[in-house]
Amino acid sequence: MSESISKELLEIIACPKCKGDVELSKKEDALLCAKCNLAYEIRQGIPVMLIDEALSLEEYQRRDGSWQD
Ligand SMILES: [Zn+2]
Repeated sequence: MSESISKELLEIIACPKCKGDVELSKKEDALLCAKCNLAYEIRQGIPVMLIDEALSLEEYQRRDGSWQD
């Protein structure tokens, strides 16, 4: 995966729901908001910061069986 999200971009991105900080998932394929329990997918290097498109953290983890904390 060459298209990773930059730290600079990550710093300015906030959760659209709570306006709080989001964190990059371990696989760098989603931005996670623990507060809202939402995972925003990163598609082609672009985070989809839409509440309607977001998955719950459970859905995200279930979808990606290799992601474990
Ligand atoms: Zn949030």
